Amino acid sequence: MAGLFLLTINPFSKNVFIILKPMEKGPNILIAGAGPTGLTAAVELSRLGISPKIIDRKKEPSVLSRAVGIMPASLNILKPSGVTDHLVKEGVKMKFAQIFKGERLLVRIALEGGHPDWDYAIALPQDRTEKALIEALKRYGGSVEFGSELTGIRQDSEKVIVNINNGPDEEYDYVLGADGIHSAVRTQLGIEYPGIDLPETWSIADVDAVNWPYHDAGTICTLPDGNMAFVVALEENRYRVISNTEDALAALPLKLDVTTRHREGQFTISIRQVNEYQKGRVFLAGDAAHCHSPAGGRGMNLGIADAAEWARRTYENDFVGYSQSRHEAGAATIALSERLRKTMSSKSLITKLIITVLATTINLVPPLQRRMAKTFLDG
Ligand SMILES: Cc1cc2nc3c(=O)[nH]c(=O)nc-3n(C[C@H](O)[C@H](O)[C@H](O)COP(=O)(O)OP(=O)(O)OC[C@H]3O[C@@H](n4cnc5c(N)ncnc54)[C@H](O)[C@@H]3O)c2cc1C
Repeated sequence: MAGLFLLTINPFSKNVFIILKPMEKGPNILIAGAGPTGLTAAVELSRLGISPKIIDRKKEPSVLSRAVGIMPASLNILKPSGVTDHLVKEGVKMKFAQIFKGERLLVRIALEGGHPDWDYAIALPQDRTEKALIEALKRYGGSVEFGSELTGIRQDSEKVIVNINNGPDEEYDYVLGADGIHSAVRTQLGIEYPGIDLPETWSIADVDAVNWPYHDAGTICTLPDGNMAFVVALEENRYRVISNTEDALAALPLKLDVTTRHREGQFTISIRQVNEYQKGRVFLAGDAAHCHSPAGGRGMNLGIADAAEWARRTYENDFVGYSQSRHEAGAATIALSERLRKTMSSKSLITKLIITVLATTINLVPPLQRRMAKTFLDG
């Protein structure tokens, strides 16, 4: 707009400096999917002065607890928008990570010093993380259009044409597919999602319980026959138990005094990643681009990181390298999660012996404890 200038501070520079730049109309952007990935992209774009349209096929916000662990990298990403303050206030501070062999504690690692900015990870049910993101989006004047499903997508070199709820053509400069593991954006553009589906059934239980002595710890129990169970706090006296068996509560070898069972279910796991996160003017992020087991609690965090990088690149109008950078980050996270899953669920007596010896050594050697804390918090 001729004659109008925008006074802005580069939000990515550590040295504060002011840029005087002509005020332009920002790109016309659609974000498909309002899970943690799409919401982070919408919040970050809005923070940078670009107002996207964000849609979700759900009628209303989710009430499912799904992802619990919020890692330091996500806390740093969501700090400038004020979301982190909310997450830290509402969530449980996970200050320890511990491994049991059956009922026997092998190692308890203090996470303090594992990350330069944070001595803990936050545990909070995913629906409450999404609520905090939706509230931040509102503060920037945005909102999610619920009940709006992306049903068609095609593109040429200048625009992306989208249909919502089988309605008329709508044109956008760029589209972000943050529409989860069964992404319509990905499938309609013919982008492959190579990988494997694990054969076993996993189980999950969200319960109220009393007298659990490890409220501020992420707890992993290795069991005979290559099975395992994880416990993490959701809030005061409420816990999530996950296992690679069909009954998480039955698999847990430690005493958990359950007073109420809120949600129990079973699920299967796929380990997949797209090769390309970009096709023309359309981009993928979050579970639409990668999925893996809950081991390490990284899935949601990886989506948040994808979204933040995509928003920054949109602001800077520089998408070169987005696909490669996110593919590398995704591959590293999947490798870490798979190492943990395979080690903890190994049936090999040698691997079990190595875990026991390593755990004993870690207990005795503080630098090794710090190294483990760094791996847990920082990847
Ligand atoms: C039991 C369980 C436990 C987990 N625990 C953890 C954990 O501890 N830590 C962790 O980091 N991760 C965990 N995860 C993984 C985590 O939940 C996902 O990685 C995360 O939800 C991915 O976010 P997303 O926004 O990419 O996708 P989603 O959360 O799946 O969001 C996608 C959104 O897109 C919408 N949508 C789909 N299709 C369309 C369409 N055509 N048009 C419009 N909207 C559409 C959906 O309604 C949905 O709201 C867990 C997952 C499960 C199932």
